Amino acid sequence: MHLLLSISYSFLISVIAFRLKFLSFRGSLAAFFFGAIIYFVGGLKWSVPILFFFFLSSFVTHLRRKIYTNSTVLLFESERRNGNQVLANGVFPILLILAYNFYHKELLYLCYVSAIAGVFADTMATEIGSLSKFKTYDIVNLKQVVPGTSGGISIYGILGGLLASVLLALIVSPWLSNEKYFIIVIVSGFFANLVDSILGSTLQAKYKCVVCLQYTEKNLHCNQNAKHVKGLKYLNNDGVNLITSVTGAFIPALITN
Ligand SMILES: [Zn+2]
Repeated sequence: MHLLLSISYSFLISVIAFRLKFLSFRGSLAAFFFGAIIYFVGGLKWSVPILFFFFLSSFVTHLRRKIYTNSTVLLFESERRNGNQVLANGVFPILLILAYNFYHKELLYLCYVSAIAGVFADTMATEIGSLSKFKTYDIVNLKQVVPGTSGGISIYGILGGLLASVLLALIVSPWLSNEKYFIIVIVSGFFANLVDSILGSTLQAKYKCVVCLQYTEKNLHCNQNAKHVKGLKYLNNDGVNLITSVTGAFIPALITN
């Protein structure tokens, strides 16, 4: 009965996300499996934070695209999150909930929420930072960059990331047994987001289009293979996001011991 409920609830959510154009077809399929596992194992306590992250960040992406279609801003070509993006953000939280299934420790929940806080902070920092008229600087060499560039930071972006962590901590606060954990979620989201920016600036692959000569984070541009110019060739934005969620999860494990 509970399995049936988990499957139907997750199916409904994935269909809604697809209809709202928040997810591609493969993205919805991945979200359906993830959602069903999370609800089946953890119920609302584990489903609410990831749903909150997903719907709020998709909504902010949608809003940013509506009010700001400046072609100089380098962001996702499509508003819909694809399968790889869902995997990058969801695979580590899934491992944590599976671990919780065998080993009931509150620390695992804290790690789970903090992993989500990291990717949520990154998404909100990127989206809100791209809307701001404030200058964006590379976190490592402090040179000015186009808003939306991986590794770029701005005042609005930093505040956006912090806001995301605070909102997520508030949402899960009824399920946290200790006030200290509330602060830990915020701190983890904030630092994971910084790590994301540092990796975005240093190790993430950067390419140059052979047709339009624009710098890009995609290995395909103008329907041609772009030239790899910087960073690790196979570390793209999804790979960096996966590292961000793992970083977010490790911070509570480090500071609560
Ligand atoms: Zn091009």
